[in-house]
Amino acid sequence: MDAKHSIAADLLRWYDAHRRDLPWRARPGQRADPYRVWLSEVMLQQTTVATVGPRFTSWVARWPDIASLAAADEAEVMAAWAGLGYYARARNLVKAARAVADEHGGRLPDTEAALRTLPGLGDYTAAAVAAIAFGRRAVVVDANVERVVARLFIAAGKPAVRAAAETITPDERAGDFAQAMMDLGATVCTPRNPRCMLCPLTAGCAARREGVQESYPVKPAKKARPQRYGTIFWLERGGEVLLVRRPARGLLGGMRALPTGPWAEDRPGLEDAPVAAGWRMLNIAVSHVFTHFALELALAVADADAHTRPASGEYWPVARIDSAGLPTVFAKAARAIRGELCG
Ligand code: SF4
Repeated sequence: MDAKHSIAADLLRWYDAHRRDLPWRARPGQRADPYRVWLSEVMLQQTTVATVGPRFTSWVARWPDIASLAAADEAEVMAAWAGLGYYARARNLVKAARAVADEHGGRLPDTEAALRTLPGLGDYTAAAVAAIAFGRRAVVVDANVERVVARLFIAAGKPAVRAAAETITPDERAGDFAQAMMDLGATVCTPRNPRCMLCPLTAGCAARREGVQESYPVKPAKKARPQRYGTIFWLERGGEVLLVRRPARGLLGGMRALPTGPWAEDRPGLEDAPVAAGWRMLNIAVSHVFTHFALELALAVADADAHTRPASGEYWPVARIDSAGLPTVFAKAARAIRGELCG
């Protein structure tokens, strides 16, 4: 047996005994539901398995298949995504579900190339769905797989890792192989202190042989994250607070939110307040880190009176603010403001 087959065979044997039981996975011997595979792969991009688990379960209880998601109200889908971040993922899920319903007879296409034509399905997701849901041979490289492969072959850089992953991906059980690599990376070949003693691939692992496991994968130098500032406005009227819908395009586009002006390099103060009112700044701020910048938000509060007429928005009961589907940064601000006003 050559090295390629040995790695796949050893890994699949380990997987059959140690696979993680996750809510989107098929039971052994059953076929995976392509919708659940696709949804889980989208949710798991940038979000941990622990966070995704309960969110996935409630999502499929509400939208159990592609047809129900295609018919869903987009604003409700966005609200259900609240807190998972990277909201373009949710918008693309709806768009792709509608494209599947309209153009593919309600079934996800079963090849990588056809999957890639759907909104939001990039190379990774198309490969993962083709392999896991349809058993196609596809090379699936997420962060866990990248780590395992980089260590096995002492491969530096994404192209080298991908080429090495290509050489060990088997023709049969490619979906199980992908999930096995993910499980090995998550539970054994961890970023720190990999548990090589428990690893089924230890005999053929170059990084283990050289004692350089934690030097791989080689990470590109991190760019400094720019700092931006903004102000969040909390306008209260009779136990309700003004919420607005963010512009459809741009960061957190289309989401329900507290009013705020542009997020800029200088502290903006009160100039973008939604209405003229007796605004006062609280002595606290809220910080949040996005992928491309860090944000510090000042918090301004005011009471609306009968003459206060914001140009847009809706008043929402403060006591039910947790059910408004606010993105994490606004939910954080709402908690901080309520704590300060009630404390
Ligand atoms: S032997 Fe160690 S470093 Fe190599 S793949 Fe296994 S856990 Fe990772």
